[in-house]
Amino acid sequence: KRAQTTILVPGKLPSRALERIEEQFHLVRIDRADTALLTDEMKQSVEGIAAATVIDAAFIDALPKLRIIANFGVGYDSVDAAHAGSRGVMVTNTPDVLTEEVADTALGLLINTVRELPKAEAWLRAGRWRSDGAYPLTRATLRGRSVGIFGLGRIGRAIARRVEAFGLPVSYHNRRPVEGVDYEYHPTLLSLASAVDTLISVAPGGAATHKAVNAEVLAALGPNGVFVNVGRGSTVDEPALIEALRAGTILAAGLDVFADEPNVPEALIACENACLLPHVGSASLHTRQAMADLVVDNLVAWFTRGRALTPVAETAHLVAGR
Ligand code: NDP
Repeated sequence: KRAQTTILVPGKLPSRALERIEEQFHLVRIDRADTALLTDEMKQSVEGIAAATVIDAAFIDALPKLRIIANFGVGYDSVDAAHAGSRGVMVTNTPDVLTEEVADTALGLLINTVRELPKAEAWLRAGRWRSDGAYPLTRATLRGRSVGIFGLGRIGRAIARRVEAFGLPVSYHNRRPVEGVDYEYHPTLLSLASAVDTLISVAPGGAATHKAVNAEVLAALGPNGVFVNVGRGSTVDEPALIEALRAGTILAAGLDVFADEPNVPEALIACENACLLPHVGSASLHTRQAMADLVVDNLVAWFTRGRALTPVAETAHLVAGR
């Protein structure tokens, strides 16, 4: 046990991760990543952070002995990784172990949005099958659709494989074409949205994708358009999306992520043509446990062997100085 190494956990983390950190290290917890909650002892001792919350530059700077931030989640837009890297602090995330789960969720959300399955179930549960008869035929179908993927990375490719199996053509937009895939590449998101009627976004958050899905992109999708987002809410101009759903600029949307979670705008909840999930993309016991293990395995690898298992791009060049 590296009991002398202090790991700080601000906010919530799965019990599996907390138990394993406690077995291996000296665990310290605070309610949230707020510098006002840091004691002098924490400032002098914390060498690692394990977190699923915002870790900004000020918080990093308040911990002079910090050497690693192990983020719970593959998306790490909540961590100032560039600043961490400039200070020699490793940042890790949890890629791969959640890829298939999130792709499953994306397809489930797509089908629920297009075929209105949650509403059909609500119809049955409300007794309306017996009183009113069959649930109305859905206006939309997956049949004949063409699917564009915004962010053909690990999860995007797992989604694409599933979409192919459904018999639908796939095209995509990234900053660069992916080598070795046959899907049609679009150099801009607008070009992709113009070419398809179903857009699935699984792009990361951050400045480069901020509000990338805007009114123009939604209009390009067209009146039969379906927009599904399992990436980050920040990638969408949410008021523009609400307007597009209200005005019939697009047909429907399925959303697992929102601009200001857990605050989902009332105007969005009021949209009958939106299928809304509370950020459950990876949220099975199985996958959250694998993510928890990868968080702790990164800490252990860093403090024992001086190497992280899954460093993020901004800090991939770092090795432990010990
Ligand atoms: P990857 O890094 O493997 O894939 C990201 C893809 O997005 C890459 O293909 C990348 O291509 C593309 N991309 C990145 N920036 C831009 C940009 N500015 N413009 C266009 N394309 C861009 O990540 P994962 O597939 O593992 O995860 C993707 C995201 O999914 C995560 O960052 C996270 O936000 C989200 N997620 C959501 C979950 C949920 O619960 N809903 C669960 C897990 C992840 P290129 O670099 O060539 O541009």
